Amino acid sequence: MVSVKSASDIEKMMEAGKIAAHALNVVEQKLRPGMTTKDIDKIVHHEITSHGAVPSFLGLYGFPGSACVSVNEEVIHGIPGSRRLNEGDIVSVDLGAHYKGFHSDTCFTFPVGQVAPEVRKLLEDTNQSLYEAINAVQVGARLGDISHTVEQYCSERGYGIVREYCGHGIGQEVHEDPEVPNHGKAGHGMRLIEGMTFCIEPMINLQGDGVHTLSNGWTVVTNSGSCSAHFEHMILVTANGPVIMTKR
Ligand code: MG
Repeated sequence: MVSVKSASDIEKMMEAGKIAAHALNVVEQKLRPGMTTKDIDKIVHHEITSHGAVPSFLGLYGFPGSACVSVNEEVIHGIPGSRRLNEGDIVSVDLGAHYKGFHSDTCFTFPVGQVAPEVRKLLEDTNQSLYEAINAVQVGARLGDISHTVEQYCSERGYGIVREYCGHGIGQEVHEDPEVPNHGKAGHGMRLIEGMTFCIEPMINLQGDGVHTLSNGWTVVTNSGSCSAHFEHMILVTANGPVIMTKR
């Protein structure tokens, strides 16, 4: 069931969104070659908890970190640990804050120092596909308009689109209805209504659509071994258009 948020729900979610956005900002400021993915997780945990919130992902379905930290060929659900970041890597930091009963969820893929031109382009294009999709959000538009926008933008540029995972409604639960896929038909799916909150999160591979899960049961990687980018914002539907609740 899709939940429509009240003004007071939205106020809390905006705060939760700000805390999550702030945590990403701090990660960006502190990111250096030589750091481990666990170092990033510690920064995220500190920034979220010091604002009186709880990391949304910590313990979610049993996840062992405060953030999903996914490097290069890792698409999503990277478990923070001893993997060290090298110059030229990319790292996706996916996090959320649980604050006054409501969650936020956002992700950004950062370059570690200088990255290869085609990888930098993958990051720019994936981020732009998210903003193109956000621009498709308006009262009366369809979920398929969002999905189609991501698919078209990324497939035109020759990238692989991860279809096994998708965006989602969010509120008192991290994952609520509806699903927001990164592929679909314009003009199809449910109509967007004022007060809906959901996450749009393109997961885009440099080469090939295919992904699989590692034996740790969590980390999803590209079949091709190529880099994957992941950008996510939490969005509120209003009569005046989309509001990015996790704006940095
Ligand atoms: Mg999400």
